[in-house]
Amino acid sequence: MRVRFAPSPTGALHIGGARTALYNWLMARGSGGELLLRIEDTDRERSTPENVEQILDALRWLGIDWDGDPAFQTQHEARHRAVIQQLLAEDKAYRSHAKADDVKAYKAEHGADKGFRGADHPTRAAGDDDSAAVRLRVPEGETVVRDLIRGDTTFRNVHLDDPVIARGDGSPLYNLAVAIDDLDAGITHVVRGEDHLSNTPKQLLVYAALGAEAPVFAHLPLLHGPDGKKLSKRHGAASVQELRDAGYLPDAVINYLALLGWGDEDDETQLTREQLKQRFDVNRVSKNPARFDEQKLRWLNGKHLRAQGLDGLTATIAEHLRRSGHGDAIAGREELLRTAVEISQEKIQTVEDFWPLAGFLFTGPVDDPAAREKWLDAPHREHLAAARETLAGLDPFSVEAVDAALRALVGERGAKAKDVFQPVRVALAGTAISPGVFESAAALGRDETLRRIDTVLA
Ligand code: GLU
Repeated sequence: MRVRFAPSPTGALHIGGARTALYNWLMARGSGGELLLRIEDTDRERSTPENVEQILDALRWLGIDWDGDPAFQTQHEARHRAVIQQLLAEDKAYRSHAKADDVKAYKAEHGADKGFRGADHPTRAAGDDDSAAVRLRVPEGETVVRDLIRGDTTFRNVHLDDPVIARGDGSPLYNLAVAIDDLDAGITHVVRGEDHLSNTPKQLLVYAALGAEAPVFAHLPLLHGPDGKKLSKRHGAASVQELRDAGYLPDAVINYLALLGWGDEDDETQLTREQLKQRFDVNRVSKNPARFDEQKLRWLNGKHLRAQGLDGLTATIAEHLRRSGHGDAIAGREELLRTAVEISQEKIQTVEDFWPLAGFLFTGPVDDPAAREKWLDAPHREHLAAARETLAGLDPFSVEAVDAALRALVGERGAKAKDVFQPVRVALAGTAISPGVFESAAALGRDETLRRIDTVLA
């Protein structure tokens, strides 16, 4: 099996493109086959070296590797032109000045489903005029798209227009270039987005004209957002770069994209790359649009985060904090960081979630006036003062000891638990959302805990 990923470098790598790359990669790596990378840079205005670099970077970050050097479609132009000349010489193609309007007029005359034939259109035939576009002669018969997801689709050739394969200036058209490149590269399976479906019969006609065997196809269904509309920026992160910046792990993104539209309901959803390579089967990809749901990705990301174990997760978070400007705050505080990660891990789904939740352990309470107003009013401050007394005498100052002491206090004061716990939490964290209050106090230690409570009570 030899497959390829063929991005057009006209922008960042989008989530749909990443899924296409991934499915190709899983097919190649799961079968001992090869994955080639072809940069389709024929739109010279919009294809930039920066975009190429961005796409390669995104693939590297995802851990999707390819075989050999990337190929660039524009570098094959001489070959494409040679094929066009060959097809003209063999009379499998002809020159024609017919434009879209002529095709329309032709159909008005011959019937809407009659494929356009330049030869029936003598006024637009161009003979030897080499400034005319080149069209392929569609032969009689049928064109069959073999698609692993959609099954076989048979087109009767009488319905297919003679496709344009070169412009008047001799430059090759997209569908010719793709077919020649896939043929020359020995591609056995073309896996790409469903938006290319209408190109496929045209590409098959090129194979047929050259007497070559066509690859098998798999057209992946579109990606929708949770609202059922085509996936776009409105739904949150749209590119791989944005997913990286939002704090997702590449393993989680790979896992999620692989399951999208393929997931086996009975499968455990958290799968490693190795498991995915073994289990992925393009035949099982659904024909229906897949829904990209960032909430599910977040959930899965949380599972992958925790699966690293405490040491791995601490290292991942430390690296993220250093990259995002919190390096100084955590410097030399490995023990506290490890504890902070330990007590936060059930509440975070991406590395980005960590600092807003647990940063107060390093920097002091955050500023949340609403939380102060609600939990540090006069009656709550009385509970807090009592809590301070109890905590001051605790030795050791462990999670269990803090837990037992504060619960006992709740009983003694005949208070509701949250009326005692929340003021302590807000004194320590500045806000009402934090890791467990006993865990947070123990992580800070007695001195710092008392200091923060005193600051509030002063
Ligand atoms: N360059 C095309 C794209 O970015 C893909 C073409 C193909 O896979 O055949 O959508």
